Amino acid sequence: MSSDILLSVVIPVYNECAAIGNVWCQLRDALSAIDGKVEVIVIDDGSTDGTWDAVIGFREEAAGVPLVRGLRFGRNFGKEAAMLAGLRLARGQAVVVMDGDLQHPPEMVPAMVELWRKGEVDIVEAVKRKRQPESGAERLAASVFYRLFHLSSGMDLRKATDFKLLDRRVVDQYVQFPEVGRFFRGLTAWLGVHQVGIEFDPPARRHGVRSWSLSRLFGMARIYIISFSSLPLRLVTWFGVIGLLFSFVLMLQTLWYHGTGAAEAGFPTVILLILGMGSMVLTGIGLIGEYIAEIYKEVKHRPPYVIVERLPDEESS
Ligand code: UDP
Ligand code: MG
Repeated sequence: MSSDILLSVVIPVYNECAAIGNVWCQLRDALSAIDGKVEVIVIDDGSTDGTWDAVIGFREEAAGVPLVRGLRFGRNFGKEAAMLAGLRLARGQAVVVMDGDLQHPPEMVPAMVELWRKGEVDIVEAVKRKRQPESGAERLAASVFYRLFHLSSGMDLRKATDFKLLDRRVVDQYVQFPEVGRFFRGLTAWLGVHQVGIEFDPPARRHGVRSWSLSRLFGMARIYIISFSSLPLRLVTWFGVIGLLFSFVLMLQTLWYHGTGAAEAGFPTVILLILGMGSMVLTGIGLIGEYIAEIYKEVKHRPPYVIVERLPDEESS
């Protein structure tokens, strides 16, 4: 798709009424430094706090510069779905994806565009110099997740963010992936395209509240690891093989004792073995179940989101 739009900025938002006005003001200033046609695409991921009305207001304020476009989901489908909807809608030769809570500073966008314009860069990624301020439990959970993800998929995403500029080629590839359970940061790294980083210190969230509860983060971590690695399944096999070798040795020992008449009632051993084996089998079945649940979700081919409202385009291009 070729269009005369140079840049699209995609912002997924969920109950960001308190922050989105400031994002819009700062973004509008930042985008005025860019020499080329720009569109801002806001995806309202089922907000219940008047975020969508604010987006309609931006469109009236902007009067076509930049172009303001938007979609609203009927319920909360999650940030990954919102980003996908925005990328599908974007028409720019480059697309920036950023959060709508000022934790991804809009003033960095012109520098990202400059880097992209310089040459053969497919992705410009804003990387965290340090992690955003967060509670002890969140920091621990994030560190465990990134270690597990690194261990299972080989990708180190500790400093990665969703704040990225993607070249049109990358956007076209990304939207063609058929999977529903997506991990934007993981998939863009997986593509193996030429990527450059630009460092920043994510500020603390000053407006609104973080949308992820610890249990929601846990659910996402589960999908991300499952969609990028089958290592947990292989671990089950390895445990099974180790268990088998162990049982074989135990069998030989038992037979030997039986033969020499030294067999004794090994009640604690039996109990321990039943407990150990039982829990290993259950864990294995549970892990396989997790993968089957994800496969089931994928084969149903349900759309990743449902749009209930869209801002009509001012112009068709
Ligand atoms: N977000 C979304 N849908 C969700 C949760 C979050 O579109 O279900 C948006 C949110 O409005 C924000 C961005 O995703 O623009 C990042 O969310 P948040 O600030 O809560 O997370 P964090 O900064 O901790 O990653
Ligand atoms: Mg945030």
